[in-house]
Amino acid sequence: MSFVPNSVRVRIAPSPTGNLHVGTARTALFNYLFAKGQGGTFILRVEDSDQERSKEAYVHNIFDSLRAIGIEWDEGPDVGGPKGPYSQMKRLPLYQEYANKLVDAGLAYKAYETSEELTAQREAAVQSGEQDYKYQRPTPEVLAEQQANPTRQPSIRFAVPADRGHVVYQDLVRGEVSIDSNLAGDFVILKSDGTPTYNFAVVIDDMLMEISHVIRGEDHISNMPRQIMLYEALDSLNLLKSPMPAFAHVGMILAPDRSKLSKRHGATAVSDFVAQGYLPEAFCNYMALLGWSPPEGKEIATLDGFARQFKLEKIAHSPAIFERDKLNWFNGQYIRQMTPDTFFAIAKPFLSAEFDLAQYDKPTLVMMLDAVRNNLTTLSDISETVDYFFKTDVVQNSEMVQSVLMTEEGQNVLATFERDFLPKADFSSPEALATTMKDFIESQKPLKTKAVMWPIRVALSGRTHGADLSKTLYILGTDRVKDRIASARQRVVSSS
Ligand code: GLU
Repeated sequence: MSFVPNSVRVRIAPSPTGNLHVGTARTALFNYLFAKGQGGTFILRVEDSDQERSKEAYVHNIFDSLRAIGIEWDEGPDVGGPKGPYSQMKRLPLYQEYANKLVDAGLAYKAYETSEELTAQREAAVQSGEQDYKYQRPTPEVLAEQQANPTRQPSIRFAVPADRGHVVYQDLVRGEVSIDSNLAGDFVILKSDGTPTYNFAVVIDDMLMEISHVIRGEDHISNMPRQIMLYEALDSLNLLKSPMPAFAHVGMILAPDRSKLSKRHGATAVSDFVAQGYLPEAFCNYMALLGWSPPEGKEIATLDGFARQFKLEKIAHSPAIFERDKLNWFNGQYIRQMTPDTFFAIAKPFLSAEFDLAQYDKPTLVMMLDAVRNNLTTLSDISETVDYFFKTDVVQNSEMVQSVLMTEEGQNVLATFERDFLPKADFSSPEALATTMKDFIESQKPLKTKAVMWPIRVALSGRTHGADLSKTLYILGTDRVKDRIASARQRVVSSS
C-alpha cells in the first residue's frame, strides 16, 4: 500500500492494569488505521505510573494481543524509537522537570495535605451540603505554614486560573465541546512519591512525542479541561515542544443491555475471545465496525483495505453495541475463507486438547476439519463437531437417534447398506465412495434421499447432520464403518 508520508503521529496508551480490553483494542485499531491511512506513525506507550495496579504480565498480554490482531507499532517500549522511553516509569525525571518549571513560574504549587486531611476536607464539604466538592486552595498564610513543616513530602498541584471559565475545543468526532474548567479545582500533577497523575503525564508525553492526533474513548472528554489548561500553561512559558494535538473522542462500546461492557457480560479481554475460539483477524475485523463503517460498504477487509478508507470524521459518536451474533458471523466467514491447511494448523490445538490425533494421518485430519468447518462458529466448537471420528460409542439412545434407527424403514436401509453397499464400495477416495453412494441411493427408490442417508449417518456419527457422508465414510475407513453399522443394528434390536 502506498501512502503519502506526512507528520501524523498517533498513539495508544494502555495502562497495564488488566489484560487488553476490547475497548482499548478498538481504540488501538482506530489509531492504527488512521496512522496507516495517512502514512503516519503509530506509537505504543505504556502508562504504568499507577504502580500499585500495573503488572508486567499485563504488559505482555497487551503486546501479544495487539500483535495477534495484526497491529504492530512503529515506536514503543520494545521496538524503541526517537522519542523514547515509551514507558512512563522510565520518564519520571521528565515529569519532575516540567512540574518544577510550572512551580517556578507560579502556575503550580507544592501542596502538603495528607490523604487523611483531604478526606476530612471532602467529608466536611459533603456534610455542609456542598454538591460538587473541589479542592480548596490553602491561603498563602496556611501554605507558608505547611511549607515550614519539613516532615511532609509535598505533591504538586496545578493552579487552575480563577477566570478560565469554559474550555472550548473542536473535537474531530463530536464538533465543538465546551466544559466548565472550574468544576475541576486545583488538581495534582505530581504525587508526593514523584509519580505523575494521568492528566499531567499524558500532556507531557503527547507533547514530547509530538503526537498530532489523540484518538481515544469518550470517557476522557471530562479530562479535556485539565489537559487543555496544562497545554495553555506550557505554551505561556514557551515550553510547548509541539502544537497541542487534535482530539477525537470515540463513542464507547456497550453491551446489548446498553450498560458498560464488563466481565458480567462474559469475555472482555481480547485474549479471552481468542481462547474461546475466535480468530484474531475475525475479531479485529468485527472491532473495526464498532463505531465506524467503511464507506465502500464491504464489511470484510484487511487492515490495509480499511486503512485506505478510514476517516476520523466518519467515526460514530454514539455508542457501539457489542453483538455476539455479529462477531460469530464474522468468525464463521473467516473460518470458511481459509485454505484447508491453514485451517488445520489453527484448529489443531483445539482438537489435540481433547483427542488423540495419532490415529489419523495429517491429510485425513485436514480433510476432516475441512469437511466440518461450514458448521462452525468458533474454534472451540470443533471438538464437539468432530467427536464421532474419535469416539467409539457414537450412538446414544436419544429420541432423535431412536426415531431414525428404530423404525422398520431405517433398519431396512441399514441391512441393505450392509449387504449391498459395503462389499462393493471402493474406500480409496471420497469421490469413489460418492459414486457408489449415489447408485445406492438410486437403488433405494422410492425412498427419498434423506430417508436413506439419515439412518446411515446416524449409525456412523450419532447425529443427523455433519460432514459430507462420502467423506465421513472415507475418513472412518472400512473397518470402523462396518463396526458402526453392525453395532447400530444390534443396539436397536436389543433395545427395541
Ligand atoms: N492510559 C489511558 C487509558 O488507558 C490513556 C488515555 C489516553 O489515551 O489519553 O485510558
